[in-house]
Amino acid sequence: MSPAAEIARRRTFAIISHPDAGKTTLTEKFLLYGNAIHLAGTVTARKNQRATTSDWMELEKQRGISVSSTVLQFDYNGCAVNLLDTPGHKDFSEDTYRVLTAVDAALMVIDAGKGVEPQTRKLFEVCRRRGIPIFTFMNKCDRPTLDPLALIDELESVLGIAASPIVWPLGSGPSFRGVFDRTERAVHLFERVPNGAYEAPVNITGLDDPAVRGKLDDHTFNESTEQLAMLDGAGHPLDLAAIHAGQQTPVYFGSAINNFGIQLLLDGFLKHSVPPAPRRSVSITVPGAPAPTEAREVPVDYEKFSGFIFKIQANMDPKHRDRIAFLRVCSGRFTRDMVVAHQRTGKQVRLSSSHKLFGQERETVNEAWPGDVIGLVGHDAFGIGDTLTEDRAIAYDEIPRFPPEVFAYLSNPTSSDAKKYRAGLEQLLQEGVVQSFTPRNAPPGATLLAAVGPLQFEVVQWRLKSEYNAESRLEQTNWTLLKWLEPHPSLANPSALVVASGVSFGTDKFDNPVALFPNDWTMRYFMEKNPDLKLHDMPIEQ
Ligand code: GDP
Repeated sequence: MSPAAEIARRRTFAIISHPDAGKTTLTEKFLLYGNAIHLAGTVTARKNQRATTSDWMELEKQRGISVSSTVLQFDYNGCAVNLLDTPGHKDFSEDTYRVLTAVDAALMVIDAGKGVEPQTRKLFEVCRRRGIPIFTFMNKCDRPTLDPLALIDELESVLGIAASPIVWPLGSGPSFRGVFDRTERAVHLFERVPNGAYEAPVNITGLDDPAVRGKLDDHTFNESTEQLAMLDGAGHPLDLAAIHAGQQTPVYFGSAINNFGIQLLLDGFLKHSVPPAPRRSVSITVPGAPAPTEAREVPVDYEKFSGFIFKIQANMDPKHRDRIAFLRVCSGRFTRDMVVAHQRTGKQVRLSSSHKLFGQERETVNEAWPGDVIGLVGHDAFGIGDTLTEDRAIAYDEIPRFPPEVFAYLSNPTSSDAKKYRAGLEQLLQEGVVQSFTPRNAPPGATLLAAVGPLQFEVVQWRLKSEYNAESRLEQTNWTLLKWLEPHPSLANPSALVVASGVSFGTDKFDNPVALFPNDWTMRYFMEKNPDLKLHDMPIEQ
């Protein structure tokens, strides 16, 4: 197959959802369609914490959650699908967000009985900022759901995205009879099968087929007919350009556990989603070159290999005390043993130990194309955001920093292992497990850690103990908001500023000024009293 064909058949995406919406179940069904049946069990097993053996997973077992993200790859209908798993517990971390920088599209799973939930909203925002296509699956239609028109309305009013229903549910809960495919104008009837066999029986007939009419009670028939007429009249027609720009979401309804509507979803997703998109290289100075390069898009079919690291995971398996750097390929062809430049250090490195990862299983990868994700083992110098490339004029800057929401002081209570503690903490900060800040008046010896979820702190403490044999003490603070401040003369003497109690100032690791707030009210008060100072969600570009 030609390189262009290899790239065109890649679909790299993640499922975003609130816990319990059905992400794990849906992932498993996708794997069944992709004939990766042997993998399907591992997804659930991982979730049920039965098959995990490593001690890195011990933390997951104790908490009953998934800390790690892995990549599932399977072929379906000629497409090479890369499904990146995003940890979904409410204690989710920056890792979850970063995974979303490596995908080309997202599939948002919503529990149709509940509608848009908080974590879905947060993850949606990250996807929207990237402008990637977002597909929606309204799950659990076999149970009583909210009014489907209200669900569509919620996408528009709460998330601010236009919604175009591709399939429409006929009834819900006990009266759920199937879905109507609006593109094909066909009815798919739902049959309740024990344990959700994976090839659900599907009958396709016209909407007014007497066989269909007989299956719908009068209420469901009338209601569905009315809703469909309304959608035909006033709904958003499918607009591929808007979908690709992330401005419209195609909506599917079904039931993951019953394997109903999944094939329509997967087929529709692969058809309307996008192959790998070009990524932007920032301007950099190549050694020996007279001038910095221009910032530009690197075409996916550019022949030289390049990619960026979006996640690092250490000690997944106690048998291999190592760390794995996950790299998203952006251009060229990856081949095992190739020598590439590690852009940040300028060193040449040989990529000899590269893997595909399925849960705990590793499989050596000999070749990968743009859109694929590979796990690279044994390179301690690799950090999150690093570019690996055959062309020194390429440098990606794909990993944004995310505004943290939880803050705690970490310190070392025993002086005997202070050295190990410092080395460990430095390594974990370099890996990007958490961010760190330096507030004024911090307690001596304490580092302020900041994360998007408290689980990240637990991971830090756990890893300090298990990998560096260092004790640590965590002390919560009551800040919940951090903003970067635009440098301003008044910051030279912050005590002269008007602030509510509990507000503090400090710096990030690049010495950019930041302000810490206990809550939204103190932040708004601050903005009102100090109108000259500008607050930002991200550091200002230097
Ligand atoms: P996750 O937390 O998003 O990964 O959700 P899971 O896939 O683990 O599903 C959460 C719960 O919802 C489990 O008990 C599933 O069996 C159940 N579930 C998933 N899909 C459906 C569905 O279509 N209908 C019903 N009734 N339950 C479902």
